[in-house]
Amino acid sequence: MDKCIFCDILAGRLPSSVVFEDELVYAFMDIQPVNPGHVLVIPKKHARFLGELDEEIGGHMFRIAQKVAAAVRRSGVRSAGINMFLADGEVAGQEVFHVHLHVFPRFLSDGFGLRFGPEYGKRPPRRELDEVAKRIRAQL
Ligand code: 5GP
Ligand code: ZN
Repeated sequence: MDKCIFCDILAGRLPSSVVFEDELVYAFMDIQPVNPGHVLVIPKKHARFLGELDEEIGGHMFRIAQKVAAAVRRSGVRSAGINMFLADGEVAGQEVFHVHLHVFPRFLSDGFGLRFGPEYGKRPPRRELDEVAKRIRAQL
């Protein structure tokens, strides 16, 4: 396996500020937060992409992220809202190839934003939505 900074963190070879830990997942502060209170939730077992991640572990990761989001809101850290974000694949913005779920506080005028591409706003016809739904349904 290639060198993985999150595995190094899990092994204690790199420092981290822990928020939560159990047998399956680890939650810790992002070193370069979008806003103060930015937490990463990761599986302890290395998986590069969602497709390599055991569904049970993935489900657990989201469950813990939901708890973390609630804790961030109660913590006193500035958080009028919360974003969860998961980049699966380089083109989706993934930089660290060990699955991680971002949980970070949002507030008005924090300057964070997602940019839409040219597809957005087109509102495809129902038959197209139905056709794509059919293709996805067939893979579930
Ligand atoms: P990605 O772009 O892959 O979704 O996000 C990777 C995240 O990992 C970034 O938000 C980045 O700040 C964070 N990160 C990168 N290296 C480290 C590190 O050594 N420690 C911690 N705590 N976070 C890191
Ligand atoms: Zn790893």
